Amino acid sequence: MTAPLRLRLDRHALADNWRALDRMSGTAACGAAIKADGYGLGASEVAGQLAAAGCRDFFVASWAEAARLAPLGLPLSVLHGVRAEDMPLARQGIARPVLNSETQVARWRAAGGGACDVMVDTGINRLGVSPAAVRDGLLDGLTIETLISHLACADEDSAMNDRQRAAFAALAGVTGARRMSLANSAGIALGAGYAFDLTRPGIALYGGIVRPEFAGTIRQVATPEAQVLQRRTVPAGETVGYNATWTAPRVTEVAILNLGYADGYVRGFSDRGRAGGGALPVIGRVSMDLMAIDVTAAPNLAEGDWITLDFALPAAAAASGMSQYELLTLLGQRYARQWG
Ligand SMILES: *Cc1c(COP(=O)(O)O)cnc(C)c1O
Repeated sequence: MTAPLRLRLDRHALADNWRALDRMSGTAACGAAIKADGYGLGASEVAGQLAAAGCRDFFVASWAEAARLAPLGLPLSVLHGVRAEDMPLARQGIARPVLNSETQVARWRAAGGGACDVMVDTGINRLGVSPAAVRDGLLDGLTIETLISHLACADEDSAMNDRQRAAFAALAGVTGARRMSLANSAGIALGAGYAFDLTRPGIALYGGIVRPEFAGTIRQVATPEAQVLQRRTVPAGETVGYNATWTAPRVTEVAILNLGYADGYVRGFSDRGRAGGGALPVIGRVSMDLMAIDVTAAPNLAEGDWITLDFALPAAAAASGMSQYELLTLLGQRYARQWG
């Protein structure tokens, strides 16, 4: 059975994006954040292709995500560390925990330790142990592969970036960590001082342009395509869709597409989205499984034909009011994901 909805995924763009970020990381290794099912694209496929390109460090959020990827045998780190109920799985060695609280450090030690990563909080106040606790010996004797911190404002030119960089750099040599890692995608663009030994891009791998430095280098990876379920002629003065928000200013050719907000084509695209390279505007409300576009400019488009939605992330985010991250991670399970 063929799905009436597909997500075209460009394996060359994915690999080229990683290679570009690897180059921008200078002498640091370049890893990959593949949490949230590879930002919605499919974590197994993404990981396999990045591994083939040379990536050797992968980050997921939870042990459930790690377990699904375990058959690939890739080096994985679990960003949320270990809860008590994660320990049986964590002890199997399918991934390293990124320990991020004093409780987690104690839990890992009590279970016998073993290779781990540690998150230190340099100001985001989300996850991580404090630099002061690290200086007081919290991590002494642990086998730490990577000491990690995370930037709060890397997509902005904020003074906080340099404060976090300096706080993190001051921990060099304080622990036995083999490597240090600070930069996410946007952090890579902040310059060589942010790369340390390992970078951890996510969104830019998948086509996100979160800083101007990435424009012209980072390419779109994911493109939704939907099938036309019906083509109709709407007379001037009639309305289309829920709440009758769009009124035909003239006789209008309309295609109804098999795509809606349940597929992550969010309601913010109502009257704002585009298809067909800008030629075909979305009209009226996007509903759960359906939406309408004005196809007056496409006289030969018929029922059963496929339409490509405009999904370059910066423009799509601006049109919909969502972040580039949300647009990818909300893509639903109804697409046939097709890597080409
Ligand atoms: C998600 C995440 C990343 C990747 O961030 P992007 O902004 O998508 O590049 C890196 N590090 C940590 C700790 C993360 O949670």
